[in-house]
Amino acid sequence: MNLTLTTLGVSSASPMSDRYPSAHVLDVHGRLFLLDCGEGTQILMAKHRISHFKISDICISHLHGDRVFGLFGLLSTMSMKGRTAPVNIYAPSGMAAILDFYMKQFGEDICFGIRHIRTDYPDKTLIAESNNLEIWSFPLAHSLPCWGFLFKGKTRSNDFHQAIPKSFAYCCDTAPFSREAEYISGVDLLLHETTFASDMEEIALKTGHSTTHQAASAAKTAGVGKMVITHFSSRYHQPEILLEQVKEIFENAFLASEGKKFVI
Ligand SMILES: [Zn+2]
Repeated sequence: MNLTLTTLGVSSASPMSDRYPSAHVLDVHGRLFLLDCGEGTQILMAKHRISHFKISDICISHLHGDRVFGLFGLLSTMSMKGRTAPVNIYAPSGMAAILDFYMKQFGEDICFGIRHIRTDYPDKTLIAESNNLEIWSFPLAHSLPCWGFLFKGKTRSNDFHQAIPKSFAYCCDTAPFSREAEYISGVDLLLHETTFASDMEEIALKTGHSTTHQAASAAKTAGVGKMVITHFSSRYHQPEILLEQVKEIFENAFLASEGKKFVI
């Protein structure tokens, strides 16, 4: 089973003139998962020709604005374009009140179901499953309660010729913590935040983020196959410097940028 990650919004916190806040798309054999939904997500989707109709699932890591400010606009546009297929939203329990407000204020014409699946368990938990995929959430260490996601392909027991299932993990936002490597152990592709360069450990700790070296160490300890870095502070106009630092510890690393694809 093939997975393809398209990175879209790679900025931390606020939109910049050339970078948007967090939003990425994971294609699992034609089923599209939106990973976070920052301001401008639907503009990014239009620019990169990702159809609203193909997004069936939306994963929200936590309830900071840079992960959810694009959600109301996207859901409303889906409705205006005539969507009828339901949307699954995987998010912490607090999302229920946000969706309730949205439906009361703007949801009159929504003609598709919105199903909220909670993610906020104290340990790694299987939150959804289909015949070829498992979706797990696991707690991260951020300034607000935040959960990562793990996607694991499944082999059907009667299909001996199927390719080896692939796996993908998303860790954004998080400071380093002892169990991170265990949660993401051995994944084929890791999308991880590197908000700050290695000389900014103090502010990273204070704000619940990772430096380049901290994220790279987590990837190395976990034995992941490949790492993509994202969520760059606006102080780094050239995030290549962050990639160079990551590679000092974990060589097989790449920079997320708008519209870039990574086949897993
Ligand atoms: Zn955050």
